[in-house]
Amino acid sequence: GPETDKVGFAIVGLGKLSLGQLIPGLKVAKGAKLAAVVSGHPDKARRVAAENGLPADAVYGYDDYDRMAQDPRIQVVYIVLPNALHAEHTIKALKAGKHVLCEKPMATTIADAEAMIAAAKATNRHLMIAYRCHYEPLNLDVMRRLRAKSLGRVRQINTTMGRQADPSDPSDAWRLDAALSGAGALGDMGVYGISAARYLLNEEPVAVQAWAWTDPADPRFKETQDLINWQFRFPSGVIANGSTSFAYAPTMAFEAICEQGRLVADPAAFYGGNRLTVVKGGQAQPPVPAPPVDQFAREMDWMADVVRGKAPMVSPGEEGLQDMRLMQAILDSAAKDGATVRT
Ligand code: NDP
Repeated sequence: GPETDKVGFAIVGLGKLSLGQLIPGLKVAKGAKLAAVVSGHPDKARRVAAENGLPADAVYGYDDYDRMAQDPRIQVVYIVLPNALHAEHTIKALKAGKHVLCEKPMATTIADAEAMIAAAKATNRHLMIAYRCHYEPLNLDVMRRLRAKSLGRVRQINTTMGRQADPSDPSDAWRLDAALSGAGALGDMGVYGISAARYLLNEEPVAVQAWAWTDPADPRFKETQDLINWQFRFPSGVIANGSTSFAYAPTMAFEAICEQGRLVADPAAFYGGNRLTVVKGGQAQPPVPAPPVDQFAREMDWMADVVRGKAPMVSPGEEGLQDMRLMQAILDSAAKDGATVRT
C-alpha cells in the first residue's frame, strides 16, 4: 500500500543485524517502514537516519522513551540489542505505548521473559519475538508436510545449529560475555533448534537430557559454554536431538525422520539459500531451493499485520518464554551430567 498506510518501526540498536538486514528489509517490506532509529551513538544514528530519509527528530537515544511516547510515527519498537538488554528496553517501549518486536533469544533469564509478558498484558500491547523461521516458506513447507504425514508419522527430529564465534568481531565479543549474552552458543544458535523441534512437531517436550563440553584451552569460552547436545522427549514418543556450538563450522540444519522417509532441510535457517531434500525410502530426490524471500521483511510485515488486526500472533512472548525454559532445562541437565529434567 502507500507509504502513509505502512506501520512505522523504530529500530533499537544499530549493529550488524539492524544495518545489514533489518533496515534493508524495511525498504522492501509491504506493510512496515522505518520510522525512527534508537542508538547509543548519536553520530552513527544521525548518519543512518539521513541515509534512510528520516528527519533529525526521528533519532532517539536509549533514555528517550518518554519522548517516543509522544511520537505517533512509531507504532512498533524493534529491540535489536545484546540479549541481556532486551527485557529493560522491551518494557520501556511497552510503557511508552508501543508494540514490541524483540529479537531472539527473548531474554537471558526466565524472570525477565515473564516480566516482558506481564508488561505487554498490563499495557495491552503486542509483544512478538522475532523468530524469522516461523514465517519462512521452507520451514512452513516442512511443517505442512509433517502435519499431513506425507512420509508417515514422524519419529525423530535432529537439529544442528552452530558456527565459529570470532572474538575479534564486536558483534561476537558480547556473545561470549555471559553478562550480555546469557547462554552463549545455546542462546544464539541453539535456540533455533529448540524452537524448530517444537514447531515441527507442534507439541511440547516432557523430559530433557543434555551434555556439554567446552575446551578449557579455548580462550573464547571463559564465561560461556561451547558444545551442548540435548535430547527432548515428547508425549507422542518422538525424540528430538539437538546440538549447538560456537566452535564448529556454520550449520543451521534439521531433519525429520519419518516412517517412510526423511525431510532434510540443510541449510534450514540461513538468511538465503535454504534447501529441502525429500528422501523417500532410501532414495533422495533432487534438493528443492526455498523461495528467495527477504525473511526479515516477511517477519516485520507479519508484525505490521498483527498491529493492524489482519494477522494472528504466531510467535508471542510465550513462545520465547517456553524456549527460555527449555534452555534452562538443558543447562540444568548438562550441569548434572545428563540427569533427566522433567518439563
Ligand atoms: P551487534 O553487536 O552487531 O549490535 C548490537 C547493537 O546494540 C550495537 O551495535 C549497539 O548499537 C547496541 N548496544 C547497546 N548496548 C550495547 C552493549 N553494551 N554492547 C554491545 N552493543 C550494545 O549485535 P547483532 O546485531 O548481531 O545482534 C543483536 C540482537 O539480534 C541479538 O539479540 C541477536 O541474538 C539478534 N540476532 C538475530 C538474528 C536473527 O536472524 N533473527 C541474527 C543476528 C542477531 P548502537 O551502537 O546503535 O548503540
